[in-house]
Amino acid sequence: MSQQGYVATPPYSQAQPGMGSYPTGFGAPPPQSHYGHYGAPPQPFGSQPAGMLKPAASSPSGMPPPPVSSQYGSSVQQNGAHPQSFPPPPAVSAPGMSPYGQPPQRPTYPSMAQATPPTQQMTSQMSAMSIGGYGQSPMQSPQSPTSSAAPPPFQMPSPPAMGHPPLSPAGLQSPAMSACPPMAAGPPMGATGVPPMGMPNSQAGLPPMGGGGFQQPAGPQGFPQQPGPYGGQMPGSQMAGPQAGAFPGGFPGGAAHMAGPPQKKLDPDSIPSTTQVIEDDQAKRGGQLYTTNLRGQVPPLVTTNFTVQDQGNASPRFMRCTTYSFPCTADLAKQCQVPLATIIKPFAKVPKNETPLYLVNHGEAGPIRCNRCKAYMCPFMLFIDGGRRYQCAFCNCVNEVPVQYFQHLDHMGRRVDLYERPELSLGSYEFTATLDYCKNNKPPNPPAYIFMIDVSYNNIKSGLVKLICEELKTLLDRLPKEEGAESSAIKVGFVTYNKILHFYNVKSALAQPQMMVVSDVAEMFVPLLDGFLVNFQESRAVINNLLDQIPDMFADTNESETVFAPVVQAGVEALKAAECSGKLFIFHSSIPTAEAPGKLKNRDDRKLVNTEKEKTLFQPLRGVYEQLTKDCVAQGCCVDLFVFPNQYMDIATMGNIPTHTGGSVYKYSNFQIQVDGEHFLNDLRRDVEKSLGFDAIMRVRTSTGFRATDIFGAIYMNNTTDIEMAAVDCDKAVTVEFKHDDTLSEESGALLQCALLYTSISGQRRLRIHNLGLNCSSQLSELYKSCETDALINFFAKSAYNAVLNQPVKTVREILVKQTAHMLACYRKNCASPSAASQLILPDAMKVFPVYMNSLMKTSVLVGSTELSTDDRAFHRLSVMSLGVEETQILLYPRLIPVHSMDVASEVVPAAVRCSEERLSETGVFLLENGQSLFLWLGQACPPDLIQSLFNVPSLAHLSPDMASLPELENAHSTKLRSIISAITQQRPNSMKMVIVKQKDRSEMLFRQHLVEDKGLHGGASYMDFLCYVHREIRQLLT
Ligand SMILES: [Zn+2]
Repeated sequence: MSQQGYVATPPYSQAQPGMGSYPTGFGAPPPQSHYGHYGAPPQPFGSQPAGMLKPAASSPSGMPPPPVSSQYGSSVQQNGAHPQSFPPPPAVSAPGMSPYGQPPQRPTYPSMAQATPPTQQMTSQMSAMSIGGYGQSPMQSPQSPTSSAAPPPFQMPSPPAMGHPPLSPAGLQSPAMSACPPMAAGPPMGATGVPPMGMPNSQAGLPPMGGGGFQQPAGPQGFPQQPGPYGGQMPGSQMAGPQAGAFPGGFPGGAAHMAGPPQKKLDPDSIPSTTQVIEDDQAKRGGQLYTTNLRGQVPPLVTTNFTVQDQGNASPRFMRCTTYSFPCTADLAKQCQVPLATIIKPFAKVPKNETPLYLVNHGEAGPIRCNRCKAYMCPFMLFIDGGRRYQCAFCNCVNEVPVQYFQHLDHMGRRVDLYERPELSLGSYEFTATLDYCKNNKPPNPPAYIFMIDVSYNNIKSGLVKLICEELKTLLDRLPKEEGAESSAIKVGFVTYNKILHFYNVKSALAQPQMMVVSDVAEMFVPLLDGFLVNFQESRAVINNLLDQIPDMFADTNESETVFAPVVQAGVEALKAAECSGKLFIFHSSIPTAEAPGKLKNRDDRKLVNTEKEKTLFQPLRGVYEQLTKDCVAQGCCVDLFVFPNQYMDIATMGNIPTHTGGSVYKYSNFQIQVDGEHFLNDLRRDVEKSLGFDAIMRVRTSTGFRATDIFGAIYMNNTTDIEMAAVDCDKAVTVEFKHDDTLSEESGALLQCALLYTSISGQRRLRIHNLGLNCSSQLSELYKSCETDALINFFAKSAYNAVLNQPVKTVREILVKQTAHMLACYRKNCASPSAASQLILPDAMKVFPVYMNSLMKTSVLVGSTELSTDDRAFHRLSVMSLGVEETQILLYPRLIPVHSMDVASEVVPAAVRCSEERLSETGVFLLENGQSLFLWLGQACPPDLIQSLFNVPSLAHLSPDMASLPELENAHSTKLRSIISAITQQRPNSMKMVIVKQKDRSEMLFRQHLVEDKGLHGGASYMDFLCYVHREIRQLLT
């Protein structure tokens, strides 16, 4: 069977004859948009020929060694014949497991790092910045994961001095811009001449935080307080006062250093409250119908419950933007430094009361596309000439309407069939893709799921292997299926491994499963084809038999070494042989130290924290892993990794494959079946059942004048425009930043079209289209009015987490603070009504932005504390890269719900309180959730009868700390609390393990680090201090 790779064919892959000569088919850019020209730095890949094939996916060059017979369990038949009858898949070195649409002349394979071009992103982000200072950070490391050709990080155009920001004095007054009301109410913050740091409140009112167990021993190293505000990188002359240097609270040294004259304590209620903003939006827009008929309309917050009716723009569930009004010119964009970005969740779940996407089938002709830019037919296209031609809204090219698509126009110039065609009237819809959009011009096979279980000593001993096998027996009945289909088309296969691999033949005709062992892991191949990937319904008996046997087969194992890369390779090879895409579910417990490709060693070195080399802790090892990632993406092989570590296992490297293949990493440290079993199973169930698309490639087109520059997500980028995802599920979001390359017009706005080509769970090739129209304005006040803080913070989180691969975390934090101050200063200068300089004035739509930004800087990735586990930090970094707006919002501002005072008769979840220790009370019970963790905090003096009704024990002292769920008790409090928890967990993509925390217990530390308005446990300012600091920065910028 020859597997020649993807063959490029029109229209997907070639320019339409006669209309320009774009080599890339998934939609080449219009000539006037300079692809490959990324504004600021030179592109490492810009010089490549525009369309190139990937080289062959790796495969063994010679014949693999024969499999070794199994030595396990007599119940498993050995079948020595198989290797002969089913030789390994031919060396699929056909020149080109190419992605779609590239003419076959690519000479080189660009670096894996392009998946999320890190330096490039930060650089271009920074290129917009006009504040001095961190441009010259000299930290390009040779181990940088970026291609060696990558541009140096943070090369900024030589900026004007910070004291002279390029803020235009233009009087863009907007009466609609409100000065942040609560701020004005309190005493002016940071009154002139008194540095805000001096305020006593940085410690006051937070007794347990300041003293006792939570404080780190003295000042952590690496954060010397330098004279300059940012560790000496800023020219000192720019700062006014002697106190200028201190970042509040600090990153170490913190508030303690910054004794200023004591000031009247500020009322914490006087600073903008996230919970209030959330409640206000819910009150104003909750329960309403949000129709998407207006361009540039700002949707309700992600936290608000609303129903969407698609009337021509994509639902905010699919696309959200940092602002819905783009500045008309690059100068304005540069001036305000508000990132212009959209966060796309192409497969977002649509609630039952909203209409699912229509599937449009244009038959053999395929979807209608602009000849020039390849944009798909959508409501933005303008029909002219009596309906015979249409003008593309993205590139302005005038196209003929194909004869079979012709329709008359009404007196308004609209097609009379407008409302009968989803692609003319809706923001989101799907097209059936023709063979031109398929690999090899062949319809794809249904995808496959391969379950790969580490059966080394740890996993056997913990009972994990048995747990997984038991669960799969029922879980496989719930594989995702096409709407209306009787059963799932997804095939399943099974592998177990320690330092060798065991494949299983589970063909339905067999009485017993058969095991094939591959012990030479250096050149992985799949020893059987027929019978490895099967339909679960058909092979149920054999599979259940296998799942019963696996735990017993390995019950006496002493093997503690494992391999990892060969396991992934085996999965890819199996999918390759079956000519399908799919997903690997890998359950792994230890760092792979066995002799094999991809062998890892412990490189955890916390001495690097807060040094120039800290970035190496986040950087994955390359080599084998890099190639493996490419192989996975080329085959449409998504990897989901479930890890159960007892110690360091190099998550930065192991987790890198999932995060470039649209997969997820799930981590259960020190797994104990009683405590973590249910938590893990809930994650596994959701992961197996969730809907997704495979072998996906996405392109974001824009109308003229701007273009996508930087892209973050669980994605792979082989060139600068095609976003490849081996799979994309309902929770994965891609964040795309835009830059101007021309002037935008207020009249035509800024239009976005996200087109995602993918293989459905039943094996159909489809295109999913999301369109969104934004406004453009030459008034910055419009931009600020249309901002969305939650989307902004999603962008900043991903861009910062990407930047730590190349920059010291300290530099990244400095940039974040600078940009925060700059965005707010620009508003103050250009949009706010005149007021005393001592007043902090924030744009209404961004008034809680500082609390999120401060919270972001206190996350484990950016805080730079030696107390934190390297794997935890790497894990956190990787998991955030694919989060949507809803998930980053709750992560950075957790919900703290008072439980003791809840109205048990009410159906609703009680309103949250501010995330600060001040809101806790000794007699209270609070629930805290951030989408990843769930805590139930119990005050020391909480009433025994409440404890009794929730836990069925007489007092706090009787409570077991290991309790992972609430007992099901028949009383109003118990029922209500359990229903709240259930409502919360259903809302989140991951299951959350409930942790019970008693006030003043050791475990309270874990809980407290989520109280994001307080001073950070591992460094980082309180919200109040940060706000004061930012305020002072703003004032500096304005003088
Ligand atoms: Zn066009």
